[in-house]
Parts: sequence; C-alpha cells; structure tokens
Amino acid sequence: MARWRNLNTVALLIMNASFVCFIVHFLQNQRKGSLDYLELNSRALNQESSILQRLDQLDWNINNLSKSVDVFHENIKKIHHDLKLQDNSKAALQKADNAKKEKKIVHRLLYPSSVLFKRWGADLSEEEQTVAQNLFVKYGYNVYLSDHLPLDRPIKDTRSPSCRAKTYPKDLPTLSVVLIFMNEALSIILRAITSVINRTPPHLLKEIILVDDCSSNDDLKGPLETHMKNFNAKHPGLLRIVRHEERKGLTQARISGWEASTADVVAILDAHIEVNMAWAEPILSRIKEDRTVIITPVFDNIRFDDFELVQYAVAADGFDWALWCLYEPLPVEWYNLKDETAPVQSPSIMGILAADRKFLGEIGVLDGGMHIYGGENVELGVRAWQCGGRVEVLPCSRIAHLERAHKPYLLDLSIAVKRNALRVAEVWMDEYKYMVYFAWNLPIENPGIDYGNVSSRIELRKKLNCKGFDWYIKNIYPNLIYLPNIVGYGTMINTLKEDICIDQGPVPGNTPIMYSCHKYSPQHIFYHSTGEMYVGGLRARRNAVDRCLTDPGYGELPVLEQCDKAVNKGLNLRWDFKQGSAVINRNTKRCLEIEANNAASYKLVVRTCTGQRWNIQHTVKDWGK
Ligand code: UDP
Ligand code: MN
Repeated sequence: MARWRNLNTVALLIMNASFVCFIVHFLQNQRKGSLDYLELNSRALNQESSILQRLDQLDWNINNLSKSVDVFHENIKKIHHDLKLQDNSKAALQKADNAKKEKKIVHRLLYPSSVLFKRWGADLSEEEQTVAQNLFVKYGYNVYLSDHLPLDRPIKDTRSPSCRAKTYPKDLPTLSVVLIFMNEALSIILRAITSVINRTPPHLLKEIILVDDCSSNDDLKGPLETHMKNFNAKHPGLLRIVRHEERKGLTQARISGWEASTADVVAILDAHIEVNMAWAEPILSRIKEDRTVIITPVFDNIRFDDFELVQYAVAADGFDWALWCLYEPLPVEWYNLKDETAPVQSPSIMGILAADRKFLGEIGVLDGGMHIYGGENVELGVRAWQCGGRVEVLPCSRIAHLERAHKPYLLDLSIAVKRNALRVAEVWMDEYKYMVYFAWNLPIENPGIDYGNVSSRIELRKKLNCKGFDWYIKNIYPNLIYLPNIVGYGTMINTLKEDICIDQGPVPGNTPIMYSCHKYSPQHIFYHSTGEMYVGGLRARRNAVDRCLTDPGYGELPVLEQCDKAVNKGLNLRWDFKQGSAVINRNTKRCLEIEANNAASYKLVVRTCTGQRWNIQHTVKDWGK
C-alpha cells in the first residue's frame, strides 16, 4: 500500500517538463508514422515481438560467444602448459600473471544508489568517483565526463535521409545565436559554442551572445572570458556576453539575449546543447519565406550520465491543462504531404526557439513577468498563433539537448510553473482559464498565488488585436478538451471521517479507496453538473484518458473506468451530488459511502444509502451553496 502511494506522490513531485516530454517521446519513438495511440499500442506489440526476436538472436550470439570463450580458455591452458615446459619462460609467466592481477583491480562502487553510476563509471578509482559524484550533484549531469570529452566531438547525424539530401540557397538571413546559462559547467558551454561555430555556415553566423543569469561559479567569470578571447581571436567579434547583476530566471535571460542580438534571425538556446549538422539552414530559409513563423528545432537527448545521443522522433510541441509541455503526434495533414522535410504545424514550443528578430519584438518577445522556469514557452506559442503568427517544428533542424537528472536551481519546478501558468491563463485563455485552475487544483477566487502584474500583457493583446483562446483551441489545438460542466473539484471527504480522502487507489488497478489525505493528484476529483465524477487528476486531452467513477451495480466496490469507454459501454457513471449531501448513482440509486474495516481503516463502497454526506474541496461559482 505504502508503495503505490509513494509512487503516485513521487511521480507527481518529479513530474517536470523534460520528464513529461521524455516519457511521451519514449512512446513516440516506438511509433513510425502512426497517429493513433491504439495503433501505437499494436505497433508497440510488434516492436515487442521484434525485440523478442532480437533477444533470441542475442541469446544465440551469447551462446556462440561463450563457446568461443571456452575455446579461448582451452588455448590459454595449452599455452600455459607449453610455457611450463620451458624453464626459461617461468619468469616471464610470473610477470604476465602479475600484470593480469593488476588489471583485475575492481574498484569499490562508492555511490551504489547514485543514478550517475547506473551505466557509467565502473572503471573509476574511488577518488575519481567522488569527484564525479560531487560534480553530478552540483550540476545535474556528468561534468566529470564532459571535462574529458573533446569539445568538437562528432555526434550522430539524426536527420532523415531526405533532410540530408536537401540543399539550401547560400543567400539566407544572418543569425544571432543566444546561449543562456545559470551555473552551467564551463566545458558544457564551450562545447555548445564549438558546435555552433563548427556546424553553422560562417557567412551566416553573425554573433553568439552568451547570457549569464547571475552565475556564482568562478570559472564562468575570468576563465570563460579567456576562452571567449581565444574564440574571438580566430573569429573576430563573434562572441559577446551579457551578465545579469541579479538572477532573473530563464525568461528574462532569453529576453536579454534577444535585446542584445542584431542579426536578421535570432536562435535562443539553452547552454547545454550541441547543434547538429546543418541545423541553421532550414531555420533561416523558412524564416526567409515567412517572417511570422516561430520555429522550434527537433530535440535529441544527450544522456546526462554517459553523454550518448538518443534520437527522438519528430513530434509537435503541446502542453496539458497545467501547462506542462509535452509532445503531440504529428498532424495528419503533415503525413499527407509525404515529405519528411516539411515543417510541422505545432501548438507551442518546448523552450528553445528561433524567430525573425524584429517580428519576435513586434509580438512581445517573451513575458518578462515569468519567474525562474516554465510557462514562457506556452505563452509564446499561444501568443504567436492568436496574434497572427505561426509555430512550426522543423524536422531537418536538430539540436542535441542535455536532459538533466535534476535541476540544481529548483528542486520543485511546479512552484514556478504553477505561478507562470496563471499568468498565461489570465492573459490569453479567456473562459478556458478555469481549466488551468482545475488542473492545479486551485480555487478560482483567491488562488493564494501572487502571479504578478499582467496588465502590460493584456495591453499587448489588445494592441495586437489578437484572437481568442476559443479560436486557438478549435483551429490550432483541438487535442485539448474543454470541460464546461465541472462544478466541484479537489479532494472529497465524508463528513463521518474528515482525515481520509477518496483516492484512485493502486495503479495499475481500478478500485478507488479511502486513504489519508495527502491532496496530490491521485486524490483530485472532478464532479460535473452532468453527473460524471473524474477521479485521479485532470487530463482532458484527446490522447490521455480520464477515469470515471462507476457503480458496477453488483458487489460493494465502485470501479474506475476510462470515461469514454464507460459512456460507450453504458456503465453507471452518473451521480447526483450537492455539496454536503449524499452521492447517489443516477441509475442504480445506490450511494457512495465509507465503511469501517476496523478502527483504523475505511473502505469506499457503493450500497443502499444510509444517509452519509460528502464535501468536495472547491466549488465553481454558486454551485452547492
Ligand atoms: N537558466 C537560467 N536562469 C534560471 C534557470 C535556468 O538562465 O534561473 C538557464 C539554464 O542554464 C538553461 C536554460 O535556462 O540553459 C533552460 O533551463 P533548463 O535546461 O534547466 O530547462 P529544461 O531544458 O530542462 O526545460
Ligand atoms: Mn535545458
């Protein structure tokens, strides 16, 4: 019991942008051109059988290998035997044995629970392990390894063959590259700079602007500037640095980079990246065609431990109602084009972006009122679309991005994302904004979060005469589902026992339970005036399913079913409920109640009503009052 709960809670706590994107991407890597998640599953099955085949093959290979090893051992034995026969070789044999023993020194693993050493570092001495582990804790990635890798290391060209075959005009707009950082490792930043210099046509690369968001690490001061001088000696005037006097967060850092830039096009990137082959040409030629496109390149992942490149499938960039970013399947229209190099229309961006420098300014760059992390990407995506621009992913432009194991600057990203999400909701989302409050389980009036002043952004929206969020949902992002009938949400408590909450119960599994109130998403309920009761967080997306509380009509346990399936199967999924009263199934007329197992624990049951009453944490407007 403790385990599943921890899993749920932990899952919620560690859910951050990269994490979510990574999971969805993992799924999408199994997909070759399919749009349908069901199909995706069947493909996953095919994949599984091909994996099984490969495992068989592997088995066979291992058998053969072990046979060869046996033969090898036999040969060694023979050689030893022969050597023994030769008196004068005894000393040599002794020497070889000693060397062998020396090689066999196995270092003690000092940090067995550190993720850094799960698949890397087995040959490190104890001293080296300590250095590597301390750097890892400080940065969230393997700085020890980065410091040992060449700055100009080759990386796999992850473009599709049709991208590789594509040619671009020489005469393209010029480019400013902005790299923002706050206490990133020096070698990481130098590798990013090196990759930009080596993989961007020199006649197009006007400048690289570093933005230091008030780092405290000493090597990012004098030593970084020495490196800049060396780069500039070879490429006069190429590198500049802007330093924040105080820490302003990544949105402000990106804005500062944009302000300092002077080329036709600006690409604003994280500092822990390596751009891939011909990454810039597709961006520059697309913006030359249409200056109103905000572009996002395709990410690949640099693994935080061994720095291997993991190729990601091309996807569109979207978000959920909490405004966490996620990957969306490619639109049907894109497949219909039958051109792997074609731009992908995208609801939003992941974070890094490229745009016409002036156009980005005309539509308000980024929302400078955002704090630290999150939300700024969704804000730009929504604003670009609503205010006359577009957002596209370019499949031929690829950037390898290091996904950290943890963020040294903020343990719980949700604090910043929640706040910034409310800014987006209040400025851009009209009546849809309530979905953001629901997703974060915040009361609509007095959410208790100071999201700052949004008046200048509201002004901007008026000035640019932007379309509404309803247009955006219907035309650009129909995968987000609006739920207009939610009237009560949050935790749900029975008046007989107020320290336990309805909870989705163990996952996998479909039996909801009563559990000590921790108030994380497994305990979030959404009651609709139409009678549905969603349990366990709000998804409300076409590619993710919400689960509805149903009365199977027999037995005493309620069952959670995917809401769409529950509707199709005609299950008993509608309940009558008013704040402070019974929860009665509309079909079976049975009640949702609690029943003591023993003095310490209660179960959630459906049975003949005995008059128990329930309260839900938040209500919408006048419902239930
Ligand atoms: N960053 C910054 N100021 C901050 C936090 C982050 O300048 O307060 C930089 C950070 O160094 C990185 C970029 O912003 O280059 C994006 O942050 P991060 O990589 O942690 O976000 P993710 O890519 O994981 O979403
Ligand atoms: Mn990053």
